[in-house]
Amino acid sequence: MSVVTRFAPSPTGFLHIGGARTALFNYLFAKHYGGQFLLRIEDTDRKRSTDEAIQAILHGLSWLALDWDGDETYQSHNADRHREVADQLLAEDKAYRCYCTPEELAEMREKARESGSSTRIYDGRWRDRDPAEAPAGVDPVIRIKMPLDGQTTIADLVQGEVTRSNDTLDDFIILRSDGSPTYMLAVVVDDQDMGVTHAIRGDDHLNNAFRQHHLFAACGWETPAFAHIPLIHGADGAKLSKRHGALGVEAYEEMGFLPEAVCNYLLRLGWSHGDDEIISRDQAIEWFDLANVGRSPARFDMDKLSNLNAHYLKDAAPLRLAAIILADAEAAGTTVSPAAEERLVAGMPGLVSRAKNTHELYDLSKFYLSDTPITMNNKARDALDGDGAHEVLSALAERLGEATSWNEDALDGIAREFAESHDMKLGKIAQPLRAALTGSNVSPSIFEIMAVLGRDETLARLENARN
Ligand code: GLU
Repeated sequence: MSVVTRFAPSPTGFLHIGGARTALFNYLFAKHYGGQFLLRIEDTDRKRSTDEAIQAILHGLSWLALDWDGDETYQSHNADRHREVADQLLAEDKAYRCYCTPEELAEMREKARESGSSTRIYDGRWRDRDPAEAPAGVDPVIRIKMPLDGQTTIADLVQGEVTRSNDTLDDFIILRSDGSPTYMLAVVVDDQDMGVTHAIRGDDHLNNAFRQHHLFAACGWETPAFAHIPLIHGADGAKLSKRHGALGVEAYEEMGFLPEAVCNYLLRLGWSHGDDEIISRDQAIEWFDLANVGRSPARFDMDKLSNLNAHYLKDAAPLRLAAIILADAEAAGTTVSPAAEERLVAGMPGLVSRAKNTHELYDLSKFYLSDTPITMNNKARDALDGDGAHEVLSALAERLGEATSWNEDALDGIAREFAESHDMKLGKIAQPLRAALTGSNVSPSIFEIMAVLGRDETLARLENARN
């Protein structure tokens, strides 16, 4: 059997981080078994579904490199097929028309509430009633006949065997009175038609699984394997909310996280492979299985995500990071010269070890992005106004002008020799030099910076600092 999974988001909101993890698990499981990962947009709720949300879902999945096989399916396009299945069930007496009025249903709900039991609400009053008794002018719904007694067990691939008493499963609606299919019917028919073998989703759908199982059976279809993964909680153990970072995936992109860091973090959120923390996409595909998905809710931890991001920043190609930073600069209305672009790429290895996200990286890189004259912060100004700073810089500039080779080691040597011959501590030189080169008091190694800037730009900055 070849594995087919699907991610089936409802486009009523953005792709949030829990949804992204569900998509990731479906993707990895399919790829692990050499199968297919499908995307189905469950847009049957026409009022609450928006194009904006669909675009956000497609963009979020693409950003995370969770590429789905084939074209995405739009559930709303399958409504005729859903109706056809409902009619078939009706013809086979596995479903029936129900003419209950809203008042009758409210009564049943009230009764169920009063008795406080978890058994079914709808009392099945039209299940065996003669349709000839149907009241005039009432558009019926279609309900599925559920088993009246016994129990149902689902062998969930994450939760294990879960059993429900069938008296908790009422004859639910599969087709509304306006002829529109319900979520329950649409999911079952689409899963069947798309050949889905494994439905991996949040455990908030576990209760639905029992109903869907009987619907599959009524249609004469095999129920796919279910895997209900625990929802994500916040660091304080409460259900994840906005306050905890339950944001749309695009918010993480905006916060300067790299997609591979987000994926690695989400993978580890509820799934483990020994003590491994840093797991590449290829390793994840090789190792992923549902057996190692935990049964208790994982806690979302921003600091861990940040640490992983710092790791992936160091691994990322300088050209790729430069492109992200140049986009940030453009968004901020800053024009960057071609020479500055080159500096940015060359200086990236020194910058990247100091940043946890691409915004920090952008801030750190500003002295490479601008050409002389660069802006100075107050601390840099203080350093340049310090005792003898100008004299030091001018003497050093002269010495640097004579340098025969221009690389980190050579520049380091020149500075040390200069300090020694002037009977100064290296720090006394480094401070104003750093200020002149970067406009700040913190930066990567000044020798590295001078090597990246090149002789002309270095001397221009020293000259500018003295004026
Ligand atoms: N559309 C449902 C949701 O977004 C998922 C349905 C399913 O995975 O079966 O929660």
